Amino acid sequence: MKYFNQKLIGIVTKHSKEFVIKPHLESLGLKVHVLNEIDTDLLGTFTGEIPRELSAFENAKSKCLLAPNSFPFVMASEGSFQSHPLFEDLMVNEEYLVLYDRENHHFFRARKVFAKSNFKQAKITGINEFEDFLTEIGFPHHGVILGEDGDFVKDIQSKSKWIEFFHNEMTNSDKQQVFVQTDMRACNNPTRMKNIGELMLEFLASLKNQCPSCEAPQLELVKVQEGLSCSWCQLPTKSAQAKLWKCWKCHHEVWEEITELENPGLCQWCNP
Ligand SMILES: [Zn+2]
Ligand SMILES: [Zn+2]
Repeated sequence: MKYFNQKLIGIVTKHSKEFVIKPHLESLGLKVHVLNEIDTDLLGTFTGEIPRELSAFENAKSKCLLAPNSFPFVMASEGSFQSHPLFEDLMVNEEYLVLYDRENHHFFRARKVFAKSNFKQAKITGINEFEDFLTEIGFPHHGVILGEDGDFVKDIQSKSKWIEFFHNEMTNSDKQQVFVQTDMRACNNPTRMKNIGELMLEFLASLKNQCPSCEAPQLELVKVQEGLSCSWCQLPTKSAQAKLWKCWKCHHEVWEEITELENPGLCQWCNP
């Protein structure tokens, strides 16, 4: 894309997210540098040693602003985990990707909520239970963190080492239980890394939705007109028949007409 061609971009990440981001940025013509020396943990950690004060989106923006001014474009990401609003036992993973355009002081963004995550926390009282926990979360591909209140053991790959640490914690703890949790940092959590990669693909497609007037990337959806006809009963459905897109830069507006007909399975008349 002309907008990005041969321009420099920095990816602010300490946790190897470039694996699922860098090739896609390169496909836009950007020259990618990984800024892994910037300490993004200062803006908060999953384990709470440093509490995260801002929303995930605001945090991703703040990460971008930590990059040196010499980078005209900066990319960062932030994720969070919470219970599903309807199914309390299901933990969902919300991910943001943000691309900062320094010259225009504009933040391009993508967001997605994933039902797939291995997020788990437990108080464990015995070695067998701990081994079951490791199996369930997908160790050794997925990492684990042991301890609480800022006193954590992380970044150990060997199962026998973990058993040893667990045993030590148990003998030193008067509560007779140890707090364990999944490591949600992308570099230690392939499930989360895959989610970020999936979001990156959607981000790429939205960036390529360019303004026909000034060629700025990522038109913004401002209005949806319902009423797409059903392919079977021909009645108007609740699906969009037209979408209004607006350019954040020059404010040019484009109506997109949906030409295909709606699937009867999604029609409120055929499939109430
Ligand atoms: Zn425009
Ligand atoms: Zn119908």
